[in-house]
Amino acid sequence: MNTALKSYNPIIKPDILAALQREGVILRQKGRAFWASCPLHSEKTPSFKVDPERQTFYCFGCRRHGDVIAFVMERHGLTFREALTYLGIENSRIDYVQVRKNKERRALIGSFRAWEKERRDELATLLRACRQVIASRKPPLSETELEALALLQGEIDYLEYLYDILCNRDDRDKYELFKEELGYGE
Ligand SMILES: [Zn+2]
Repeated sequence: MNTALKSYNPIIKPDILAALQREGVILRQKGRAFWASCPLHSEKTPSFKVDPERQTFYCFGCRRHGDVIAFVMERHGLTFREALTYLGIENSRIDYVQVRKNKERRALIGSFRAWEKERRDELATLLRACRQVIASRKPPLSETELEALALLQGEIDYLEYLYDILCNRDDRDKYELFKEELGYGE
């Protein structure tokens, strides 16, 4: 399960300063930051600030902000995907799919953990209720009652089997059960 989180593969972006220079933005360094007249709105005094460490920009005039991808999206009216292509980010399609898959996996892990706890509590409650029914039936019992109790005992055995998986087995077994009960594919 944890390998799904570890395999997260961030997009490798081009340097924001180099990209801005290619766009014709004239940057002046002040301390650790760079400043320019904002290329996204019309202005005379520079209020467009670039943080080279974080690889982000922020405009105090128009409040537009973000990373290099957000910048070209704003500047050229591109979609996220178009911006990746524009910036020549390699395997942009694969990376984009990967980002979505990672998001889905994280969501899946979240629902797995929630299900694990809920199902365990639910099974404990069910088992308690079933055992109380068995304990409350005292002989003499009719044939119908005996049959019903035998069925109930069968149900208890099955619930105990599930409960044991959720209490004592490892994540792999629990996850198999999760997929089976909730109908998730691989
Ligand atoms: Zn601006």
